Amino acid sequence: GKKTVAVVFGSVSSEYEVSLRSAASVLRNIPRDRYDVVMVGITKDGRWYEYGGSVDDLEADRWLENGPVTPAVISPDRSCGGLLRQAPGGPENVPVDVIFPVMHGEHAEDGTIQGLFEMAGIPYVGCGVLASSTCMDKDVTHILLEAAGIRTAPYAALVRPQLARFDSLEPSLREKLGYPMFVKPANTGSSVGVGKAKDRAELLAALKEAFRYDRKVVVEKAIVGAEVECAVLGNYTDADAAVVGEIVPHHEFYDYEGKYLDDSTDLFIPARIPKETSEAIRTAAVRAFAAMGCTGLARVDFFAERDGGIILNEINTLPGFTSISMYPKLFEAAGVPYPELIDRLIRLALEK
Ligand code: ATP
Ligand code: MG
Ligand code: MG
Ligand code: MG
Repeated sequence: GKKTVAVVFGSVSSEYEVSLRSAASVLRNIPRDRYDVVMVGITKDGRWYEYGGSVDDLEADRWLENGPVTPAVISPDRSCGGLLRQAPGGPENVPVDVIFPVMHGEHAEDGTIQGLFEMAGIPYVGCGVLASSTCMDKDVTHILLEAAGIRTAPYAALVRPQLARFDSLEPSLREKLGYPMFVKPANTGSSVGVGKAKDRAELLAALKEAFRYDRKVVVEKAIVGAEVECAVLGNYTDADAAVVGEIVPHHEFYDYEGKYLDDSTDLFIPARIPKETSEAIRTAAVRAFAAMGCTGLARVDFFAERDGGIILNEINTLPGFTSISMYPKLFEAAGVPYPELIDRLIRLALEK
């Protein structure tokens, strides 16, 4: 029979708005002949509702005002079987077979909500608690990938108290990494809080900005090369990479504006790099996916240097899923249409 999928969107995350757009695309493309859908929204301040309105209102962030919304949570009480709804006549249980979290960033992509789904005993699309949290943390990602023999950029991790000793810290960072440096909160996405520092003053400013978003920050050597992304689908060691795509930002780097607010970024599918480099990236992406214990999906991002070298930048376990996002586009280019991709992701969740 038909399975009931709970599509969960929003969340207390700096990527709340991106989630609404990703969720709208998933809701427009999920095969309705195979799945019944319930929509579950989490507001920016953490209130949970079942949503029964239009996808357009959801995409435009009018879902809460226009509704209809009913207070409802994914209950960790397993006897509930999924969604616990506060109906006028009293609490109601809505059984859910599988959850598709279509959200990004903190409390969404970092293992937090995955822990709730585990407690509820409901299968869910994407990585589990550990892979979600280790891929989200850019410091831990560096450490684990290094252990797996996968090259990443030279970097240093800093925690907030170290900012007070910036004067003694800066020379060692300069010596180890050189300017320019990239400064990033350890656990954000969509380039939120990311900065490029060309000198000491910019480094201090970028660190202060990044520490607004996280208690831990990574500082990386700036890599020169093409920015390329590889979409991976599967479970653990049994995964495949799609076509490699390339991003050409027309800002100083691929920042939030270039990602979502203007049309300045160019995408090339396939990436304009030699075939051998693409193959090396696909192989490294699948290896990294397995090494991090990923399930379902991940978008594994690299820099391709001119000399053929490849450097893994980061792994996104719930990458952007809008109709113009790289992840679905790379699978489309590999011959997997968007609705089939969603179907495969749900099946992988039920199999893992
Ligand atoms: P996403 O939205 O993909 O989750 P993110 O917020 O996790 O992004 P990164 O991808 O790590 O952040 O960095 C954002 C952008 O900054 C990159 O797309 C790239 O343009 C630039 N960047 C980050 N690190 C480096 C580096 N070491 N060298 C050169 N450019 C970098
Ligand atoms: Mg990221
Ligand atoms: Mg991300
Ligand atoms: Mg990125």
